[in-house]
Amino acid sequence: MAPTHVLRCCQRGLAWIPVIFIALVVCWSYYAYVVELCIFFPPPVIYLIFFHLSFIMFVWSYWKTIFTKPANPSKEFCLPKAEKERYEKEERLESQQEILWRAASSLPLYTRTGAGAIRYCDRCQVIKPDRCHHCSACDMCVLKMDHHCPWVNNCVGFSNYKFFILFLAYSLVYCLFIAATVLQYFIKFWTNELPDTHAKFHVLFLFFVAAMFCISILSLFSYHLWLVGKNRSTIEAFRAPVFRTGSDKNGFSLGFRKNIVQVFGDQEMYWLLPIFTSQGDGLTFPTRLVNPDVEQATVTLQSEPSKSPLSESQNRLLSNEQHANNVGDHLANNTLKSGLNNMFTMNLGNSCNFTENSRNDFLISFMEAGLNQSKGE
Ligand SMILES: [Zn+2]
Ligand SMILES: [Zn+2]
Repeated sequence: MAPTHVLRCCQRGLAWIPVIFIALVVCWSYYAYVVELCIFFPPPVIYLIFFHLSFIMFVWSYWKTIFTKPANPSKEFCLPKAEKERYEKEERLESQQEILWRAASSLPLYTRTGAGAIRYCDRCQVIKPDRCHHCSACDMCVLKMDHHCPWVNNCVGFSNYKFFILFLAYSLVYCLFIAATVLQYFIKFWTNELPDTHAKFHVLFLFFVAAMFCISILSLFSYHLWLVGKNRSTIEAFRAPVFRTGSDKNGFSLGFRKNIVQVFGDQEMYWLLPIFTSQGDGLTFPTRLVNPDVEQATVTLQSEPSKSPLSESQNRLLSNEQHANNVGDHLANNTLKSGLNNMFTMNLGNSCNFTENSRNDFLISFMEAGLNQSKGE
């Protein structure tokens, strides 16, 4: 136990190195600009005011991104004790899924695994809410996980995504401002017009470092702005979430304006401040559900979720317990499946760009609907 513990402590310590590196660079940039530059080549006062403004906003949002704890699934998503014991004893995957389906019937879940199963984290022993993923670096399930960022030594997710975007924005403003205002001294350095003091080397490196960070942050910032506009996390951009109607990369997109409001909140005066204003509880998200009926091919917009994370209206897709019982029967019905499979290949193959998984999901819902009707539902 002891060596593992020591190793983990070392890992945790090493994980702070990128953050310490950034902090040192920022401290040096402050010293170089405010002390060295201002003493030897005094810039206009307005420069200093703007510099301090962007510096404060940058440090504030960086601080909030680092020290805001990732949000985890609430207790409702843990299996009840008896069910958990049954799940652990059970060796057959089908029976384990049955236990999960029963537990999930009271939860507001829209997404599944690629194979159409309930998303469950064996490590945290919790049913994963929509958009929640397990982070191996943090060793926990993180709500609306975007990615684990080594530069902030923290998971970027529901609780700090707004802070992360602002951190990128203000660091870009900070670097752009430094690069733009130091450029004139940088040019003078090469034409030997600067007085021969050590300050001129600070000027030289200030410009280099600011320009280098500008380029790298700009690409990341533009990418995340695009993601916010589409209401996608980085994980979802690489692997589209799977709904009962199939995988849909735009499943959580509500339109450009509403997507921005989801992250930044509905009060515009707080958009630029690193104060938490994101909408929702991180457990449930409004979804755009694609109707599985190909004939109609309509797109319905799911309205705002109600306050309770366990409300019935949230849970239309996993509506009743019978659902859980039905799945096993349906999966066993291979003849029906292969028949339907052919039918879907014929009907959907050309018109819809469905993946294998989404088609299976589709088939399951189709069969469930059919059998539920035959059971008189
Ligand atoms: Zn987990
Ligand atoms: Zn993490």
